[in-house]
This record gives sequence, C-alpha cells and structure tokens, in this order.
Amino acid sequence: MRIITLTCPACGTIIAANELEANRVMNCPGLDCRELLRFEDLPADARDHFLDNRGRYELS
Ligand SMILES: [Zn+2]
Repeated sequence: MRIITLTCPACGTIIAANELEANRVMNCPGLDCRELLRFEDLPADARDHFLDNRGRYELS
C-alpha cells in the first residue's frame, strides 16, 4: 500500500494523509510549530489516490 504523507514545510514533521483528511485543516503536531496544514496541500495525484483507496487507509 502506498503511504501518503505530508511533510510540514516549517519543521519537517510528517503527517499521515488520513489525519489530514479527517481534520481538513490542522495545526502541525510538531513541537513549537504553528504551521497550518491542509489536506489540499497534498499533491493532486496523492489526494486522488487517497480518496480512491480511502477504505484501505482507515485505521481499524
Ligand atoms: Zn510543523
């Protein structure tokens, strides 16, 4: 399974696509980092892949 993540441009923290999709907009969980991260920040092909396969990305 392809792992889709977004790397925070400010601090380098890696956030999983499923967290971004659940929250849509979230503050970076990185220590002392206030960067706002959005699902839409993912490249279009990564978003499409995630949405096409979202059932497999859900945490169980
Ligand atoms: Zn960050």
